[in-house]
Amino acid sequence: MMLPEAKLYIDGKLRRAAGDKTYDNIGPWTGEVVGKAADASAEDIDEAIAAARRAFDTTDWSHQHQQRFELVKKFCGIMQANREKLVQIARLEAGSAIGAAFRAQIDGALNGAKDLLECHAKVSWEKDLGVKNEYGFDTKRIVTQEAVGVVGAITPWNVPLYVNVGKVVAALLAGCTVVLKPAPDTPLMGAIMGEFAHEAGLPPGVFNVITSGHAAMAGEMLTRDPRVDLISFTGSTAVGKLIMQNGAPSLKRVFLELGGKSAYLVLDDCPNFPMVVASSMVVFHAGQGCAYPTRLLVPRSRYQEAVKVLEMAYAGFASKWGKFEEPSCIMGPLISKRQLDRVMGYIEIGKQEGARLLAGGKVATDKGAGFFMEPTCFVDVDNKMRIAQEEIFGPVLVVIPYEDDEDAIRIANDSIYGLGGAVWGSTPRALAVAKRIKAGALSVNGGMSITGDLPFGGYKQSGMGREWGVEGIEEFLETKAIGIRVS
Ligand code: NAD
Repeated sequence: MMLPEAKLYIDGKLRRAAGDKTYDNIGPWTGEVVGKAADASAEDIDEAIAAARRAFDTTDWSHQHQQRFELVKKFCGIMQANREKLVQIARLEAGSAIGAAFRAQIDGALNGAKDLLECHAKVSWEKDLGVKNEYGFDTKRIVTQEAVGVVGAITPWNVPLYVNVGKVVAALLAGCTVVLKPAPDTPLMGAIMGEFAHEAGLPPGVFNVITSGHAAMAGEMLTRDPRVDLISFTGSTAVGKLIMQNGAPSLKRVFLELGGKSAYLVLDDCPNFPMVVASSMVVFHAGQGCAYPTRLLVPRSRYQEAVKVLEMAYAGFASKWGKFEEPSCIMGPLISKRQLDRVMGYIEIGKQEGARLLAGGKVATDKGAGFFMEPTCFVDVDNKMRIAQEEIFGPVLVVIPYEDDEDAIRIANDSIYGLGGAVWGSTPRALAVAKRIKAGALSVNGGMSITGDLPFGGYKQSGMGREWGVEGIEEFLETKAIGIRVS
């Protein structure tokens, strides 16, 4: 099965890259080419930035809130109507299983777009702060919010539609113009948004998409270019740091959504302990999720019970993953050979560090030539180990015993990251623990803490700023105070 070619979308035109240059889009399920993508040249990228700058500076896009809202709504409606096409892209290009498409891969993104449209009405574009007498005369004061300008949106491959929507829809609703640069591994999920924008009739230059086979070139150009006012980046912490550095000379706004190593903390009074422990398996989309709670913290008093539950749960899951046509399947391959090698490297590290492999740990060769590895669980893990401290971004759970609630909170917070987390236990106690975890999104007893109308983002090295929700639109706004002398 082949996907259509991913084209550039620059200044209102869908087109191929300069010199018709393309690169291969490799499918994770087979390791084979599933499509071609435009490989943007430096000139193409420059043109996209110039178009976005022109559209921001010379049109009324940023001022016409209602007209813009209607166009973005139409754009989101077209996206919604193309759900099936998006599911196919997520499966073939991002390696999504069908069951994962029903959640964060596709439906989470489409629902999130609807949530953002609703949040637009809650943005306060102008606030009256009344008259104040200062230095002997009266001043009427207003505070306005206005679009920052040109946004460079740089996105990863794991849940590409979700991240693209979180940035693009929010930035457009704020009145910014956008250059989207999807990850090299998932070009079509970005390019298709250009097609939808074209169909919706967004004014030329307001939204542009550049795909590139080179990991860093397009992103670095966006980050260094003084015509770009804000970089909204989702990806690894290492590249996030580079973005800050490269954006510093032009002091552009940088908004960063980075890695995580979140805790799944089960308290000793947790109802349905076996079911809750079994649900901690890191299998959804092969564990390639930034806010995925990949460290299971269980009370030492119930540790052996938890290990037994996990042993059975992993054995039961062995026949349920890696099925391309199965609607209930939630775990497929890893995105690439590079990622598979990286995750397998951590399996070796875990063994050397003295953790015990309870399940998995091997490349799965019985699923074909794609990038499959077994759902994996390490037990007897100490939080100091690299497998407990570093983001693995694969189907790997590490299990760590703790002594009491204070110890559990200490371990949960003993991380350079602070993105997500989950706490299970009797509600008031679990909520009190959740409030003490230094992370941006906490689920208590399975509640959804990540939806399109809630702010999402990280503490510490998991990033800065918030995406989604009203806060996610306001991230793309500047605040201006105006004083009008009235006496
Ligand atoms: P990555 O950091 O390698 O790449 C992310 C994007 O940055 C890609 O588009 C890539 O081409 C681009 N890029 C690479 N080098 C660049 C540079 N020097 N300047 C500018 N752009 C550059 O990450 P990845 O491997 O694509 O994605 C996995 C990572 O993303 C994981 O660490 C994961 O935790 C993180 N992630 C975070 C969130 C979140 O919301 N916090 C969501 C999804 C993924």
